[in-house]
Amino acid sequence: MCCTSEKLIATARRMAELGLVIGSFGNVSCRQDEIILITPTSLDYFQMKPEDLVTLDLFGKKLAGDREPSSEFRLHVAIYAARDDAQAIVHTHSTHALALSMSTSTNELPALTEEMEVLVKGPVPIASYAPAGKQQLADQAAQILFKTPGKGLILARHGVVGLGNTLEEALLACQLVEKAAQIQLLAQRR
Ligand SMILES: [Zn+2]
Repeated sequence: MCCTSEKLIATARRMAELGLVIGSFGNVSCRQDEIILITPTSLDYFQMKPEDLVTLDLFGKKLAGDREPSSEFRLHVAIYAARDDAQAIVHTHSTHALALSMSTSTNELPALTEEMEVLVKGPVPIASYAPAGKQQLADQAAQILFKTPGKGLILARHGVVGLGNTLEEALLACQLVEKAAQIQLLAQRR
């Protein structure tokens, strides 16, 4: 089974180790049948235990867990509804993707590398700014991802969303988007 508490926590810790988020920022979820397992709000990933995770139904209603879900749970719920192929979602606040979203007037990051083409499935759209944690941000992201087969999305002045069949794939998409954003910024300086 790809959606287990242990794998979810391991992915969240890896996301932090890779420097894609600081502290308890960002969030990770996976979907199994009719439920979504998601990281809780405001808890350090290295303190997190399986019982801290929150279980939601596909509409975002809490089914189990003592803690509150990530404040960005609406984003996860909306993307799962829009994309049948998404079984896992990783949301980061990585540096270069944010910088790119502030520096560019285009609304997408081109598929600059072979890895992007093969693993992220093409260019990465940049969603216009919406306040964190709000339904507007979730709806905007889901609408864009519904129209593209890609596995990555940049949220302007906020972060990156990676999705995949597995948690590993979703995290890899975030890493590849961050790397491509860095390349794009370096290339723009020439
Ligand atoms: Zn965020």
